[in-house]
Amino acid sequence: MRQITANSFFKRGCHPDFDEETNRRILVVNLFSFVGYTITLVLGFYALFSGTWTLGFSLLTASLIFFLASQIQVAYRNKVGQVVSVYLLTGCLMGLETYLLVTGGHDNTGPLWLYILPPVAMFFGGFKRGLIVMAVFTLLITIILFSPHGSLLLTHYSDSFKTRLLLSFCTVTFLSAFYESSRQNTYEMMRMLSAQFEQQALHDTLTSLPNRRGISQLLDQEIKRHYRTQIPLTLILVDVDKFKQINDTYGHNNGDIVLQRTAQHLRQNVRRQDIVSRWGGEEFLMVLPETSEQSAAILAEKVRKTLENTAVWLEEREIKVTASFGICEINSDISLNRGLSLADKALYKAKQLGRNKIVCAHDMA
Ligand code: GH3
Ligand code: MG
Ligand code: MG
Repeated sequence: MRQITANSFFKRGCHPDFDEETNRRILVVNLFSFVGYTITLVLGFYALFSGTWTLGFSLLTASLIFFLASQIQVAYRNKVGQVVSVYLLTGCLMGLETYLLVTGGHDNTGPLWLYILPPVAMFFGGFKRGLIVMAVFTLLITIILFSPHGSLLLTHYSDSFKTRLLLSFCTVTFLSAFYESSRQNTYEMMRMLSAQFEQQALHDTLTSLPNRRGISQLLDQEIKRHYRTQIPLTLILVDVDKFKQINDTYGHNNGDIVLQRTAQHLRQNVRRQDIVSRWGGEEFLMVLPETSEQSAAILAEKVRKTLENTAVWLEEREIKVTASFGICEINSDISLNRGLSLADKALYKAKQLGRNKIVCAHDMA
């Protein structure tokens, strides 16, 4: 039997597929409804035993609604369930607090519970929606408190109590809104930074192409698609010819420029669905989804020719850059690792044949 810990109890309704903010809100709803239904249950029974029937029944009704709200988001693990839960909790809390303010609750202490609403409205609704809820509620309690001759109140509060209650309530609202706004801003900044770091970790800074880690992730997705569709995909390993010579003749910085131009060239001459990555040094790996070795060879030949015919200008001198291509198809007989090793062998063969060539692994078998 699965053990229910406090952690799993409060995380009921959360799901790894939901974004972090949604899971945080589900957790807060669970926590709040738990605190809400236990406190109102205890106070409800206490009121009943004290003979204050209306207060007792109101508290017990609120307790039931708080309980139902948490159950709804667990039973319906979707956006609708979560929104209904939040509206039910907030609505019920606002109703209960209005009732306590109007009647005074037990010994006129009812208004004390007003201070729960600002943080709860901000937690549940976020800054903007929370602020709207608070503006409407503040207007409502102002009208109730300052109605002529207390006509909307069933109890009596002194004028100084009413003014101070409203001022302190507005202060708590302001502080809660400020807290929520800075929390949201910090969260957005963290998300942006984490997306930026992820982008940097998966891309090569020189060419902006996916690096080895980046292409490994993308390859994983392509291999999964291949298993689903059974349509082969093809890998092309590209290695710039005699690149060391370019570095030695023009310097490392100019070598970098050649790598950037080659990367650009490869990217511009493949189809949208094809992936070009920097495999390391002056080697690039192209992944051509849903493509056979024959079709890939046609594309590689086109890329090879245009690279050969596109001059790169370095320090007002025109230099010719060529590359060799090793091609291998991944299919039901050839796994990814074997395909990579065969593409590497085909590339080696292309170098042996004099460079500026394309070689298919299939032709070497
Ligand atoms: P081959 O035609 O057989 O491929 O010869 P090659 O000179 O291209 O190959 P080799 O492996 O001998 O040399 C590759 C050179 O690429 C050596 C290395 O210093 C250089 N290199 C690797 N990464 C970078 C880089 O990011 N920038 C620059 N400028 N050079 C790099
Ligand atoms: Mg190399
Ligand atoms: Mg090389």
